Amino acid sequence: MNPLTLFTRRQFCLLLLVLLLPRLGHTQTAATPYPGLVQPADAPVPLYCTPGTEARAAAMAARCAAALKWMQQPAQLGFAPRVTMLVLGKADWARYAGKGQVLGMPHTNGPAVLVVAGEDNELWQHTLPPTDQLPAALAQRVKTLYRTPTGQLSAGKMFDLTVVHELAHLAYRQARLNRPRYWLEEQFCNLLLHTFIASQEPAQLPALETFPEAVVQGTDRATLKYTSLADFDRYYNLMEREQPMLYGWYQCRLHRAAARIYDAQPDGPHALHQLWVALKDSQATYTDAQLADMLRTKVSPELAQVLTNW
Ligand SMILES: [Zn+2]
Repeated sequence: MNPLTLFTRRQFCLLLLVLLLPRLGHTQTAATPYPGLVQPADAPVPLYCTPGTEARAAAMAARCAAALKWMQQPAQLGFAPRVTMLVLGKADWARYAGKGQVLGMPHTNGPAVLVVAGEDNELWQHTLPPTDQLPAALAQRVKTLYRTPTGQLSAGKMFDLTVVHELAHLAYRQARLNRPRYWLEEQFCNLLLHTFIASQEPAQLPALETFPEAVVQGTDRATLKYTSLADFDRYYNLMEREQPMLYGWYQCRLHRAAARIYDAQPDGPHALHQLWVALKDSQATYTDAQLADMLRTKVSPELAQVLTNW
């Protein structure tokens, strides 16, 4: 090769590098997928949050990382989903949350993005039933558990735990499990949440369990537009956005069922793993009778009773 050609190429490459470097640096800054959010450098999962919510975001990211590690254990799912976490204040919610999602409702947005609120909001404050509609002992527990430093009642402590429920959705979808019923996917997510909290963060169990108990006890079933599992499946895609309170009532009943399924395991927690395996092996379609039979034989009678005794 002509030494002059070599020299010229080297010079050309150097020149290209000098010209491109500032542009590359600029591109990296501008290429954040979420302009306006901060990306804490030491977060244990990919995390973007609204400025000012860093402390809450760090706590949720830590829970998220612990849950992923736990899900990966062969005795649980043997699988952990990919996730990017967004912790959003009110202004950023409108920008980055899923279309039409009510402020404060934890949800997944796409195959690997998890969205949660970073500050107290109306949903968390208004989903708790008035305490004067509750039995006295339950009302007292609600007041003790969910009172915020400003003196208001807010279910934020419970909503913060549901980040684990959303991770379960990501696992379900990324593993491409069949979905014989929407309610069954939700039941799986609630069972995973309950099993994780009961076994890994038992001090949080009262915050997880008291809210569903209060909502179910404080709601007059006769006032609800729908109450059957069949209607939950029929209206599933609209209910969360259009009727969040009704959706919450169903979720609270599924939460309570998760606690019953968990508590009924005589030899330690295995229902979650069995349900995961059963769903992996499941068909897309079952009659209700076939589904109840599959859940009874492959997981537990208490899970089948969610369908048969709803
Ligand atoms: Zn869900």
